[in-house]
Amino acid sequence: MTTALVYDPIFLEHLTPSGHPERPQRLEMAIKVIEALGWLERDGLRLLPPRAATVDELAAIHDRTYIQMVEEACHAVAEEQAKSGRKTHFFATDTYVSAKSYEAALKAAGAPLTAIDAIMKGEVQNAYCLVRPPGHHALPDEAMGFCLFNNVAVAARYAIDSYGLERVMIVDYDVHHGNGVQDIFYEDPRVLYFSTHQAPFYPGTGHSYERGEGAGLGTTINVPLPAKTSFETFEAVFRQVLSPAAERYNPQLILVSAGFDAHWDDPLGDMYLSTAGFLRLTQIIIDLANLLCDGRLVMVQEGGYSLDAMGACVATCVNALLGDDAAVDSLGPAPTPAFRINTDVLIAELRRIHQLTGYRMRNAPKPNIERLRREVKGPSPDEQNS
Ligand SMILES: [Zn+2]
Repeated sequence: MTTALVYDPIFLEHLTPSGHPERPQRLEMAIKVIEALGWLERDGLRLLPPRAATVDELAAIHDRTYIQMVEEACHAVAEEQAKSGRKTHFFATDTYVSAKSYEAALKAAGAPLTAIDAIMKGEVQNAYCLVRPPGHHALPDEAMGFCLFNNVAVAARYAIDSYGLERVMIVDYDVHHGNGVQDIFYEDPRVLYFSTHQAPFYPGTGHSYERGEGAGLGTTINVPLPAKTSFETFEAVFRQVLSPAAERYNPQLILVSAGFDAHWDDPLGDMYLSTAGFLRLTQIIIDLANLLCDGRLVMVQEGGYSLDAMGACVATCVNALLGDDAAVDSLGPAPTPAFRINTDVLIAELRRIHQLTGYRMRNAPKPNIERLRREVKGPSPDEQNS
């Protein structure tokens, strides 16, 4: 099995003001952990430099005037930096640009395209795109939530336009709802968008009754969850809502909006997932890719603002993509929540909304006996790494 790690140091040159959570150190930490593990030379892991997305590829999603606005804003910062030394400028709510942001953003959008090409040519099985700025909040004509271009949406359209795919599934486990992705594909049945997110929370969208419209009705699945939701609930949602919905949709490619801000150590999110929890959710997605689309899977970095959790989760996901099931975790288990969600009621309601009541997977993934044996005998997943 070969996994591509798509990364370019240009991503560190998109600068934000001091104190801003979306900072270059996030990716630096991830690379540092992967390097410390000796994985940059690991068998099966291929380091791929991303190409830049072309303006035409971005324009499949974004307005051309908006793309130009981002480019010009970055030029303006470069000019002012030469005069006053100021390195970063406010661009939109919470979102800043620096002299190299446009170049970084083109490659952040281009990284999953590089990955898709390598996968479709059979050169690699799957890929992790370690990019910034992130993308899932970006709208066709508006930056928001630290995002300039909608990387994962550009990737889905590229797979459809360049390879003739008819069904692409995006799984988004970032703690925030990917309002941009939802908007872009709300009426488009060629993309199934599935999101778990903290609610109420930024950006305020992603109610479970938002299910798409017109031809896209039913291809948006939102799972808003209260703060401090633990792995147990996430896992039930992934197994009993995502898995059957994915099987029914039968995607030809799976993209993941990989944000780790639902980690318990994250300073912005307030959810109770541990690194081991992220591993298990990611493994469910990998199992679905193996079952439904020959393992074709591209993970694209979104949020994640605890540097330790970023390092641990990125390394853990890369390890999982390579077929290994150990978590790299220095942070340990999530706190025990003070309340219990009635997961059965939540699942029943989601299955009702999405007409999955009574749906049985024809091809439920075969259980991994070794993994199950460990689960039965060993400590709970959240204790495995304590
Ligand atoms: Zn986020």
